[in-house]
Amino acid sequence: MLQPFDDNYFMKKAFQQAEMAYEKAEIPVGAIITHGNQIIAQAHNLTEQLTDVTAHAEMQAITAAANYIGGKYLHDCTLYVTLEPCQMCAGALYWSQISKIVFAAEDAKRGYRSMQAKLHPKTKVEFGIMEEEAAQLIKDFFLEKRKF
Ligand SMILES: [Zn+2]
Repeated sequence: MLQPFDDNYFMKKAFQQAEMAYEKAEIPVGAIITHGNQIIAQAHNLTEQLTDVTAHAEMQAITAAANYIGGKYLHDCTLYVTLEPCQMCAGALYWSQISKIVFAAEDAKRGYRSMQAKLHPKTKVEFGIMEEEAAQLIKDFFLEKRKF
C-alpha cells in the first residue's frame, strides 16, 4: 500500500523523534518541519544533553528549516510537533511566520495557549493527531524517571 503524505504520516515521523529523545532520557518531544511533502527538518528535545533550556525540539527544527531554505521565514512550511509548543517556541514560531502548526498532545500547564502567547496571524493551527500516543509517551517517561 502506498503511504499518503498526510498529517498522520508526518506526525508519525515527529513521534519517532520523540522516541529518540526518550531513549536519551530527554523529555520525549519530537518535531519535524515539512515544505510541500518534503521533510526539511527533524529534531527532538535535547535540553539535558546540551544543558540548554532553549534546545526544545521546535527551536532546533526552526533553525534547521531556515538553514535548509536559506531564509528566515518558514512560509509554506508546516511544523509537526508531539506536544503543544511552549511560549518560547510559540514566540520563535511567531517570528518565523510559519504557515501551519500541527501538534499532538495539549499541554494544559505550559502550553502557549495557557500562557497567553500568540502565534502569527498567518499561522493555522491543528491539534489532536496521535494525541493519546504522544501524551502516553510523556507519562511513561515521568513514571520511569520516578523509579530512580
Ligand atoms: Zn518549547
